[in-house]
Amino acid sequence: MSALSPINRESELRTDAAKLAQLWKSAHIIHLVDARLSAGDDSLTFIDATAVKALQESFVEGDRFFLGVGRDDKQAYFAWHTTWINPPEDDGTEEFEQRKYEGFKSLREVGGNLDADELALGMHAVGLANWHATHTHCARCGAKTVSDLGGSVRVCPEDATQHHPRTDPAVIVLVKDKDDRILLGHQPVWPDKRFSTFAGFVETGESFEECVSREVFEEAGVYASEIKYLTSQPWPFPASIMIAFEAITHRPEEARPDGTEITEVRWLSRDEMKAAVAAQDILLPPKISVARRMIEAWYTRVDGYTRDQLFGGESWRP
Ligand SMILES: [Zn+2]
Repeated sequence: MSALSPINRESELRTDAAKLAQLWKSAHIIHLVDARLSAGDDSLTFIDATAVKALQESFVEGDRFFLGVGRDDKQAYFAWHTTWINPPEDDGTEEFEQRKYEGFKSLREVGGNLDADELALGMHAVGLANWHATHTHCARCGAKTVSDLGGSVRVCPEDATQHHPRTDPAVIVLVKDKDDRILLGHQPVWPDKRFSTFAGFVETGESFEECVSREVFEEAGVYASEIKYLTSQPWPFPASIMIAFEAITHRPEEARPDGTEITEVRWLSRDEMKAAVAAQDILLPPKISVARRMIEAWYTRVDGYTRDQLFGGESWRP
């Protein structure tokens, strides 16, 4: 995976309102309704400024977020985040929500099917939408704030303070033993047989590595050593970034669930993983998640073990 985002955020343009207005006219625009993305089953649906004008009768004029410019095609991208003025009538049926958001999908639903460019845009847009929707007032004086700089900040008109989107760091850890088995845990809020890597929020005054050790010991009862950084992934549900590590434990037999956050732990070799997926005896985390990528990277590191052997064994939170 390239470290360079396919979308150049062009942050220097955010202070240039005239330039942003000009880019808007020819932009590819993601319409976000209540943080759901305009999308089909496996790609985003972009609209243009003319379509936005036409839609303004049905939707409250919300925020425009400048997402950046494509590195290759120099195409400008925005998101237009709105809510309904008159949503389709709520007749109390189960189909109401479906009809209300027809043509829109949550990032959880569609994220795993998007290509890298669209996933980057979706993560950025949904992260901003979540933040703007929940940070409407000044933390210092309580006044209502307004979006500014292409949606990258909110500004307080009373005391002129700038408020920046928050991102909450969380570590996620692939625990292994010396035989290259991996340890996965089951959370009681998940569907039956769903297992994933261990994760937790970084606390104030804590390093990533300290957080890895603490979380693994708290949730699985083992000491983590040889902690190695793997990768990171934005996870705007609502505002996290996952910092991924792998670690070794030398006493795998001591693994046990904490009984609250984790109710079952399971050691798996590659052959055991393959058999469990085939027998539908395990559900892996969804394709969009960094946990899934970590498990796949471990699994495919040995010849003869391929990603497609893990297909079917995936789930999403209910
Ligand atoms: Zn203020």
